[in-house]
Order: sequence, then C-alpha cells, then structure tokens
Amino acid sequence: MEWLPTLPPAHGEVVELEHGLQWIRLPVPGYLDHINVWLAPGNHGGWWLVDTGLGLPVVREAWRPLLARYGLATSLRGILVTHHHPDHFGMASWLAEYCGVSVTMSVGAFAAGARVFQNAHAERIPVFGEQWGVDYPRLLQDARAGHVLRSVVGGLPPLATPLADGDSFTGTALPFAVSLHDGHAEGHACLHAAAAGLFIAGDELLPTISSNVSLYPQGGLDDPMGSHLTSLRRLRELPASTLVLPAHGRPFRGAHARLDALEAEHAGRFDQLLEFARAPRTAIDFANCLFGHRPLEGMNLLLATGETLAHVRYLLGTGAVLRLNAADEPIEKALEGRLSAYVGAGAVPRFVRADCA
Ligand SMILES: [Zn+2]
Repeated sequence: MEWLPTLPPAHGEVVELEHGLQWIRLPVPGYLDHINVWLAPGNHGGWWLVDTGLGLPVVREAWRPLLARYGLATSLRGILVTHHHPDHFGMASWLAEYCGVSVTMSVGAFAAGARVFQNAHAERIPVFGEQWGVDYPRLLQDARAGHVLRSVVGGLPPLATPLADGDSFTGTALPFAVSLHDGHAEGHACLHAAAAGLFIAGDELLPTISSNVSLYPQGGLDDPMGSHLTSLRRLRELPASTLVLPAHGRPFRGAHARLDALEAEHAGRFDQLLEFARAPRTAIDFANCLFGHRPLEGMNLLLATGETLAHVRYLLGTGAVLRLNAADEPIEKALEGRLSAYVGAGAVPRFVRADCA
C-alpha cells in the first residue's frame, strides 16, 4: 500500500485533490476521530456532496463555514450518501433542508436507515436473541443503542431517484460507476471514476481497520459476512493504480494488497473459531474467544456480539458448524422463528464443528 503524500485536512478544513475533488474532514467523537467526506464538482457547475457527518452540534458548527465558503445554500446540486450509518447519513436531513436538495442513496441503504431510525422490527429482537442464545433486549438497552442512534441522526431526508448497482452517475463532472455492496451495511454504494482512477470507498475498503460486519436483529441481511466476502472479491476488479478514497484514514493506492490483508484477517478469525468449536459453544463463548482479551460492555459488547454472530452465521451457512439443541443434537438448518421448541425451553443453543458433532 502506498499513501497519498497529501497531508489530511484538519477537522472542518479542506484539501483539494485531483480533478477538483475537495477532501473535507469532520469530527467523530471516540476512536474513529473523523470521517472524510467529499465535494465533487457538478456536471454543470455547483457541487455534489458525498456523505455528511454525524448529526451532532459540533459537526453542524464545522459545516457552517464550509457552507459559506462554497456557497452551498445555492450551489449544492445534491447529496450522495454511501450508506445509512450515522457518521455518513446523520447530517443528511439538515444539509438537504438547508441547501434545498434531496439525497441520493440506494433503496437498501435508505430502507436500513428508516428501519433503524423508526425502530422497526422491534418485535424481532426477542426472537432473534433466542435463536442465537443472546439476551438482545438487555444488550441493546445496556448499549443505549436506540438513544445513541437517534441522537446522531437528525432525521430522514427526502430521497431522490435511488442508486442501483451498475448505474452511471453523471450529475458530477467526473462520471461515477456505482456499485452496491452488502456486508458492512445494506446497499452500501461505492463510486468509481475509472477514467480518473478514483474510487470513493465509504466504509467498504478502509486502510487501517477492517469494516465492521455484524448480524443484528434489525438488519436486512441474512448473511452479512458472506456478502462482505463476496464484496471483497469484487473489489479485486479495481485497477492496481486506483486511488482509494476511504471514509476513515488516508487515501491510498494498492487496493489489492489491502484486500489480501483483509481476507487473511477473516480467514484467521474463522480458523480461531473453528478450533474453539471442537467442543459445543454458545454464541457468547465465541464472542469471548474473539474479543474477550478486553472487558466488553455497553456499545462495545453490542458490536462484538454482532460481529461474532456474523462469523458464526457464515460458518453455519457453509456447513462448517452446526447448531445444537439442549441434548447436543444438530438442529435442522432451515428452521425459522422461535427455536425454543427445538432447542428446549430455556436452553441456549450451542454450536459445534460439523466434524466434531
Ligand atoms: Zn459504516
């Protein structure tokens, strides 16, 4: 991997890259520190914004001088949002209203945002928890997940014609080929300006951290890890010279080396889980196996559990592990709904390597 030599902008500042692309950094509290968002020159003047920042007062204050500097109240043509996570989507409704524009994202991403924002599928949470042997209502409550989310997403913006996989987006001076990637988030859009060798990756390909891939009760993806691994293979189609513009960290070249490292990291986790699954284990046992080297609570425990379940769900799908009932007998794969009838009332399902069952 080779970093773009250009130094990153400070929070609320801008650096101009090739083809007039404006690299803006906005603050994100906590370990992420920042998100990169991009202003791209419009096809007929003006600007298109890609991603928006968290819906927090500190981010709104960072936006005000930028809105004035670029005259965005009149010059913004629209907002593209890669996916529904709050650091990307949170400020979309405020900016859309302020600038009188609508938001362009995939149907899946908008639906995911609406679902989480409106707390849809709440009734699925206890059933999901039972399927996996995890006290999800408690986990969500301890993480204050609903409160945290609603406090950083301003609202649902008006949606323009949605992005579809394979679209050519021509609102910008640089036309972008749109690809949609499930896994990290439903319907995550990446934008590839092939002629310019630029790839706006969102959270799909990050230089120093792996994208969080989690199975959640409110999620729209049945096998997010399987989808993510498919996405990583698809990203290998990027030409080697492509400049990757990630949402977190610095732009870099060498996507293939980064994909090698990410695939090796996932393979290592699968090996670790399969070794551990020589004896029957609960989902929480697996979470401790992967992440138990540090004490987990609140939001971190929720994230670690979601990521663990994504791995276990993938291994169930490949047939490498089996779900067991209270008598340690494998349960049919295709079962849906409440599992207590199959697992045993009050019992927690366990999982074991297929060749050790
Ligand atoms: Zn994300």
